[in-house]
Amino acid sequence: MKHVKILSLILVFALAIGAFASCGGKTTKKLVMGTNASFPPYEYVEGNEIVGIDAEIAQAVAEKLGMALEIKDMEFDSLIPAVANGSIDIALAGMTVTDERKESVNFSDSYATGVQVIIVKEDSDIASPDDLAGKKIGVQTGTTGDIYITKEYGQENVSQYSNGSLAVQALLNGQVDCVVIDNEPAKNYVAQNAGLKILETEYTTENYAAAIAKNNTELLEKFNKALAELTAEGKIAEIIEKYIPSDGEAVTPEPDTSESAPVETSETEAVETSESVPAESSETTAETTSEEATETTAA
Ligand code: GLN
Repeated sequence: MKHVKILSLILVFALAIGAFASCGGKTTKKLVMGTNASFPPYEYVEGNEIVGIDAEIAQAVAEKLGMALEIKDMEFDSLIPAVANGSIDIALAGMTVTDERKESVNFSDSYATGVQVIIVKEDSDIASPDDLAGKKIGVQTGTTGDIYITKEYGQENVSQYSNGSLAVQALLNGQVDCVVIDNEPAKNYVAQNAGLKILETEYTTENYAAAIAKNNTELLEKFNKALAELTAEGKIAEIIEKYIPSDGEAVTPEPDTSESAPVETSETEAVETSESVPAESSETTAETTSEEATETTAA
């Protein structure tokens, strides 16, 4: 009898621990990442999932930290404020580390690099950055490309778009003469749209890193530790190689022209992408049902 009592006590105790642990899992173990999912191959929409290098790195980090990853799609220039005010935990968006951004957020260790390039139509008379004066230049709002170009050529010559896809669309439509954007998305856009080419620039190499709130040094340390482990394990190189193969065909998204609303994904499980893209998935349906979607589109 005494044994039964002890046994049931142990059982109650075990159940209590289990309940506590699972409860903790629900309330604290979620990593909310913000991105701008129109920046292939770092982030783009496939079906109704956000995939790409940043999504996969975040997923791998989340797994290391025992957290579930949730990805929110928002305007690029909303990301830093969202990190700073705590509405997202982290931003991974092919985001360049800059001194100005460092005034608002902390940056993790860098996991990739980029350079700004110029996309023009194949028959363009723009052959180098020297030819940009007096031209209409398309950029993504709030990006380093926007910042450099606006400073150098003046606001009146710059057309800002909320993402790279819309900027490239404006180039195809003849509304701008060129688009200044990071090299890897540029390659993707040129691969997806006939009649475009890339001009190299002399802009310096930029470091991409995750942005984390200044007061969340705990997450910063955890992220950097997980990133270092994933780098040592070869996982980061593997993810980058998958999307930017050193030889051969890149994994590119379907050409997409409908970019009116950010796509909200919730609780992305594994962001494993299949190498072959189903032909019928060109039309992405934006899920704007949750309250976060309203929040991000309203900005
Ligand atoms: N690397 C650029 C920046 O940080 C562009 C990033 C992006 O458009 N997602 O400003």
